Amino acid sequence: MTSPDLSPDPPGATTGQTPYRVLARKYRPTTFADMVGQEALVRTLTNAIANGRLAHAFVLTGVRGVGKTTSARIMARALNCVGPDGTGGPTATPCGVCDNCRSIADDRHVDVLEMDAASHTGVDDIREIIDGVRYTPVMGRYKVYIIDEVHMLSRNAFNALLKTLEEPPPHVIFIFATTEIRKVPVTVLSRCQRFDLRRIDADVLAKHFAGIVEQEQVAVEPEALALIAQAADGSARDGLSLLDQAIALSGMAGADARITAEQVRGMLGLVDRSRVIDLFETTVRGRPADALKILDDMHRDGADPLVVLQDLMQFTNFLARAKVVPDMVLGPEVPEAERKRGQALAEQLGQPVLARCWQMLLKGLGELQAAPVPQAALEMVLLRIAYAAGLPTPDELLRTAGAEGASGRAPPVAGAPSPPPAAGSAALTPPPPRAEAAPPRPLPGPAAQLKPQAVADPADDAPQTPVPTDFRALVELFAARKEMDIYGHLYAGAHEVRCEPGRLEVRLRDGSPRTLASDVMRLLGDWTGRRWVVTVSGAVGEPTLQEQDRAETDQAIADARQDPLVRSLLEAFPGAEITDVRRPGDPDPASETDETDLIPDPEGADEDEDL
Ligand SMILES: [Zn+2]
Repeated sequence: MTSPDLSPDPPGATTGQTPYRVLARKYRPTTFADMVGQEALVRTLTNAIANGRLAHAFVLTGVRGVGKTTSARIMARALNCVGPDGTGGPTATPCGVCDNCRSIADDRHVDVLEMDAASHTGVDDIREIIDGVRYTPVMGRYKVYIIDEVHMLSRNAFNALLKTLEEPPPHVIFIFATTEIRKVPVTVLSRCQRFDLRRIDADVLAKHFAGIVEQEQVAVEPEALALIAQAADGSARDGLSLLDQAIALSGMAGADARITAEQVRGMLGLVDRSRVIDLFETTVRGRPADALKILDDMHRDGADPLVVLQDLMQFTNFLARAKVVPDMVLGPEVPEAERKRGQALAEQLGQPVLARCWQMLLKGLGELQAAPVPQAALEMVLLRIAYAAGLPTPDELLRTAGAEGASGRAPPVAGAPSPPPAAGSAALTPPPPRAEAAPPRPLPGPAAQLKPQAVADPADDAPQTPVPTDFRALVELFAARKEMDIYGHLYAGAHEVRCEPGRLEVRLRDGSPRTLASDVMRLLGDWTGRRWVVTVSGAVGEPTLQEQDRAETDQAIADARQDPLVRSLLEAFPGAEITDVRRPGDPDPASETDETDLIPDPEGADEDEDL
């Protein structure tokens, strides 16, 4: 907080001339007290420092974005802090003002070395480090080596490292960070004190974000924060990136900005919760006509069928949990309307009904993903559930069978659905078994309603674009869809940090539109029919596609110059230049510049690294 670089800007700074700084960077914790949701780590370290029982190597593991490198840096400060008067010892509460604290915060402390193993996998990189280990620290108490993504090191590199870990000089401390602890050799792990950084709970994140928006002087509805916290999936950094986008969408930060749950839902491609509950309720109450009507409306408003189905599953799960541990599930963080209706439904619906509903939705999930028109598939799923509402659950069947013995009452079978219960609530409490099996009837109304819907709007439901699996394919999708503006920004200005179906993390060059990430998120969602979370990261990431293509062309031109035929051509035509090289089927020349290493292509130069 005290380092000028990291303290929050004065209020309103974000709207003035000051360049905007992404929230994840602006609010990166600089003390353990600021760390969100990692109390266990903080407590253990505090004790170790207080008791003078520090290990010489630590490994921090956890999913991306939970704060591994941030923790490592705070540890480096804690170990090297000398206090405001220069006489202090290692402390769990680094002062933030001494030379050591400040230069670590600015990434310029000579004794704190940070290395990203994703890009330095080889044994020579490690040798360089190990050579330095012999020398005592220059300005700090300890030499601290932070190695991020340590699992990416080659085996030879690990072996070289191991020798030092076996007998570390007293002034040296290693801090490793990794997302994949299983790939770190046991020989290395056994010499480290291990900290597992937990995914941060959504409600903890929401509280954290609430504090930040207050400092930013942006009004955000609590429900909007809860939605962002949920989408962040345990990562404070992802959540802050989404919050950034929400602020950008609401028309920049400032006194008038107000972010509603509605906006965030739109941004994330989420569906209004109360409509999901309406849909759920009409369906399980066996009112298919009402359910289809609601679904139609949602479809018109742009709701993605797959998201609707997933929301229904989530709500089913929510109710099932609410039946068992109501106090835990129906807490104050749940919006009031949802809490009230959820409570009522949880009391009325039997666990077997919920279990059956879950199974049918789960089965429907696969069908939806395979269906050419997902909306139609979702309708069929809901109709099945609505008609099943009139059927007894398996345990009721058993009871009935027990009561009636082999009296010949045929259990209803799937091929002969009973009609939907007349009006309303028959299905809510486990329905009393009917005295007589209802005679099969042709499907009433809804089936007729279904037909035009299923074929309506062919343009809307045009065959869905396959989900791109790598960054280039993803970016080219924007060209194919004629979103040339966005394509241009992505091609020339986006550094891939991580790209997998449903999740994209990029670093954007300065001057990229602030809504770029949310536009990409929305369009990808529309095109691929699944939810995407797009976050902006401070990690260095890969070169942009444009840079990659340029490097490739340069390399090809350099190669071509060596070609005897080309050389003679160039001599024959003085002043001629090679501007491009086309050799179909050639291996990627860029890859030849890679250093020799034993690790296959790093898949995510990822990580915790903020700026
Ligand atoms: Zn200090």
